[in-house]
Amino acid sequence: MSKTTTTIRLIAAAAVAAIMAACGNHQKGDGGNSGDSSRQTAVMSPFVRINIDSTMALVSIRDNATEKKMPNRLFYGKGDSAEVEKLSPEGSVPSSVSCFIIETQGKRALFDTGVGKANGGVLMDRLKSLGIKPESIDYIFITHFHNDHTGGLTDNGKAAFSRAQLYVPEAEYAYWAGAGGKGSTAIKAVGAYGNRLHRFGYGDKLPLGVKPMAAPGHTPGHTVYIAGRVMIMGDLFHGLPLQIQDLNLCADYDMDRTKAIESRNKYTLMAVHNGMMAAGMHFFGTGMVDFKMNERDMELKSFEHNLPKR
Ligand SMILES: [Zn+2]
Repeated sequence: MSKTTTTIRLIAAAAVAAIMAACGNHQKGDGGNSGDSSRQTAVMSPFVRINIDSTMALVSIRDNATEKKMPNRLFYGKGDSAEVEKLSPEGSVPSSVSCFIIETQGKRALFDTGVGKANGGVLMDRLKSLGIKPESIDYIFITHFHNDHTGGLTDNGKAAFSRAQLYVPEAEYAYWAGAGGKGSTAIKAVGAYGNRLHRFGYGDKLPLGVKPMAAPGHTPGHTVYIAGRVMIMGDLFHGLPLQIQDLNLCADYDMDRTKAIESRNKYTLMAVHNGMMAAGMHFFGTGMVDFKMNERDMELKSFEHNLPKR
């Protein structure tokens, strides 16, 4: 077995254990089932707030109202169907549409905005249940321009977050602005923020010390954000329980498979290596996987030498 395969298998085991632990151990807001720590209950929990450290909290909010599953065939690619069926015998992979809020330095930053109210998104309702007013969001960071991430930026054509400064990757903006009509909905949505729209480059300093990193493949300007020990992974995964077992499996949504595989491997290894809290817009359950929590169990340090130097 190659070192890479060994590393990936260990990551898979670590991640699956971490998901299970995360489903049972965190405070859940689900309107009635909070005493039950079963996996099923956690999957149905629409939001979770956890303290990352004494200076930062991370809130995960599910934008989808009902259970979401990705069918196996979405991951077949050109020749992976047998492997996919073997790794996902239930025929579909649990998923979600999730958004995240980081609270730090007395400010709130929202990462992505879901599909939007007009398309059935319930982010706004869930913010209300949490007592978070839209005007209390100081910053919005967008991972990429697909509608399930930018749809909630506007409500009836107007900015849904009246005070927020909006940060989008210039690489993503430039691609969709030049993609004929294909990007027009997203370009219009970000444009609704007027002079509160900021198009950043990867070297730029962003508010709250948020660090943007190029993670192309899913889309050309797809971006991962790091804040403290939190990594916002965007769409590196569409079916986490399947793809974590083989990081080279892509969903059909990935525009450039080669680059998507590269980005998925790079940032998953980085998250594992640094014991980070990974948050993904299509992770199932809590939407988060804490690699630090799992470090003890899996003795991740024992295979550090396998990790690529960066
Ligand atoms: Zn997406």
